[in-house]
Amino acid sequence: MADFHLAPTTRRPQAEREAILASPGFGSNFSDHMVLIDWNPEHGWHDHRIVGYAPFTLDPASAVFHYAQEAFEGLKAYAHEDGSIWRFRADVNATRFQRSARRLALPELSVDDFLTGIDRLVEVDRDWVPRGAEQSLYLRPFMFAHSAFLAVKPSTSVTYAVIASPSGAYFGGSGVQPVKIWVSRDFSRAAPGGTGFAKCGGNYAASMVAQQEAEAAGCSQVAFLDAVEHRYVEELGGMNLFAVTADGRVITPALTDSILEGVTRSAVLRLAADAGLAVEESRLPQQELHRGIDDGSIREVFACGTAAIITPVASFTDPDGTHTVADGQPGTTTLDLRQQLTEIQYGRRPDPYGWMHRIV
Ligand SMILES: *Cc1c(COP(=O)(O)O)cnc(C)c1O
Repeated sequence: MADFHLAPTTRRPQAEREAILASPGFGSNFSDHMVLIDWNPEHGWHDHRIVGYAPFTLDPASAVFHYAQEAFEGLKAYAHEDGSIWRFRADVNATRFQRSARRLALPELSVDDFLTGIDRLVEVDRDWVPRGAEQSLYLRPFMFAHSAFLAVKPSTSVTYAVIASPSGAYFGGSGVQPVKIWVSRDFSRAAPGGTGFAKCGGNYAASMVAQQEAEAAGCSQVAFLDAVEHRYVEELGGMNLFAVTADGRVITPALTDSILEGVTRSAVLRLAADAGLAVEESRLPQQELHRGIDDGSIREVFACGTAAIITPVASFTDPDGTHTVADGQPGTTTLDLRQQLTEIQYGRRPDPYGWMHRIV
């Protein structure tokens, strides 16, 4: 197991930390430390360390600025009632990060380095884990290429980092608020043979103009169709989609290389199956989704991902109009699954799946 060197650092005053934790927001405040590991072909991954959170100094010619050679992850550390701190299925994030790295011609980080780095960071910054309802320490592992040359080829200098952000509800507000979704017709997020299955910044860069279009249409999230036929609903810019039918089936688009395999998605599939629901992974034509919503055979739709957990979908809008799911309110299956998942994550329900791992 790699040893992470802990550099002497200054911590922010307790009062400042407590003010942030009282109202953490999402992703805008960061803990005192970060993980760094460097890579080059001669030494592989080396110099594992925990240092004070600080800006990077990078050559303007660094590959990541020009060719977006980078990948990232997102997961959370949860405080339980007894003060212990836990992670949820981080091993699955670790192997997904390896798949992303391979697609981006970046070096793979070992599962052990990924998990140990996270555990060490959460240990030193344990006071930054908020303890309010549905609050957590959001962890953002990422790696980026910074060889200073403009030739298009894989970089030979790469840095891996993890930063940590105390976080509350992703969509703000309190309780479970259904979101309105815009279905983009003009913009694709990912195409066959592309990078859709990899968690990388380039996919997000490609999604932002569609997000602006959504907001202009009064929606808060975008759903993307498949890039070939523009017929099948795939996923949101950063969350997977599920539909629940009146006859108790739970349907999510089958994985393709243009869909990101969510850690939450696979947990939901497992929880739904164990709750006796019939789970289906299949293509989801937009027309069938609309028809099902309109005739009531689709009763609930929800989106899921680490940041926003499980969020009910109120409606789908495209240039032809709006289809409102049931009465636009959260459905019972959505709320049940959400409750089961969060109770496991926050240690309020036994975890029969071995998903939780105690950090401290
Ligand atoms: C991260 C992400 C998700 C959700 O994945 P989780 O592992 O559940 O957080 C879904 N879609 C995209 C495009 C993503 O980047």
